[in-house]
Amino acid sequence: MIRALLLSILVAWICGPQVLFSAPPGNRSQSISSEGPVIGVLLLEGVFQGSVSSDAGSLILQWQSGQVVVDSPLSFEAADGALQVGDRLFRESVRIRATAGDMQIGHRMHEGWVEWIPDAPYSGSWKLIERLPMERYLIGVVSREMSASSFPASALEAQAVAARTYSYFQYRTRNRSRRHHVYGDTRSQAYGGTARVPQEVIDAVEKTRGMILLTSGQIFESFYHSTCGGRTCSAAEAFGMADVSSMRSVSCAGCEGSRFSSWRREVEQTEMLRALEDVCEGTGVTVGTVKQLVPVETAQSGHVPYIRVVHSSGSFEVETQRLRTALASSGGGRLRSSSFQVLHTADRFVFDGKGWGHGVGMCQVGARGYALRGANRTWILQHYYPGAQIRRLW
Ligand SMILES: [Zn+2]
Repeated sequence: MIRALLLSILVAWICGPQVLFSAPPGNRSQSISSEGPVIGVLLLEGVFQGSVSSDAGSLILQWQSGQVVVDSPLSFEAADGALQVGDRLFRESVRIRATAGDMQIGHRMHEGWVEWIPDAPYSGSWKLIERLPMERYLIGVVSREMSASSFPASALEAQAVAARTYSYFQYRTRNRSRRHHVYGDTRSQAYGGTARVPQEVIDAVEKTRGMILLTSGQIFESFYHSTCGGRTCSAAEAFGMADVSSMRSVSCAGCEGSRFSSWRREVEQTEMLRALEDVCEGTGVTVGTVKQLVPVETAQSGHVPYIRVVHSSGSFEVETQRLRTALASSGGGRLRSSSFQVLHTADRFVFDGKGWGHGVGMCQVGARGYALRGANRTWILQHYYPGAQIRRLW
């Protein structure tokens, strides 16, 4: 879950936690069924291509003025303002589903309709979107965010509540006239479609149906991450967000000794220079030989929000999250977290770090550890989101 983070952070930074929950308990919106509101998931955007297949061997293709049954598999290409699906060309929205059973697009398995929509006029690009009830969407999230075979039921249930809260926050804060509210990947939350989901995940979502977290009566963007390495990071420290009391730093013994509780990453001088040039593109700063990286304002949790870069032509500061992204884009792989110490050797920088992910909110591997020791979902959620209350909305 790395998310539509920048916009989310901006919203939260400006507004703090959103005062969005105003209906009293039990006073459900008429438009929200027991499956929750319909949420739009952006699967692909821009120009793209791929194929659609179904177990049934056939697919239904439907557009404003027509419908046809076609053989599976079917290739598609969205580009230059035109969408080719099989041997048909469209310039309007088109949707597709299997005639029976499940449909596969890329790595995702879908039960219902998926739709290609032209993007803004004259942009020439497209969006591939799935719109489905929140509770159905959540089974596709939980099954990708946690392994049903190795995570106990209480961890899966805690994950379902955290993911529902995050999703509902996106649903309420994004303009609801937009066709989508979340990305179908870790820019928001991992999502693998709703078909062929393990029963344990379906049960976890069902047991927590409609439950979300509130802090002081307000919904908040309940971030979560893979592994904290011993202590989570507050949203204020990691993202500069207005202080959200339920996303403060807490200790975590649940992920102790896990695979990514500690890590080492060595970055060669040339790779670091390439990433920093990417960071500085358009700023007018010319990066010389990188001599030193100095963590700035290291948080109590060990997370490093900024790094001062000392190079042969001067120095500047960069957000650690920005450097992580740039290192990933440069092809060398991302730093697993922003909790680290860094040393400089003759030709490389050696990062010794803890955890995986941004470190904010629930530590998923920690939730597993506590669940294995008998903790229930309420204990897990209140540990990682201190002071949060659980409220059922539908
Ligand atoms: Zn942890």
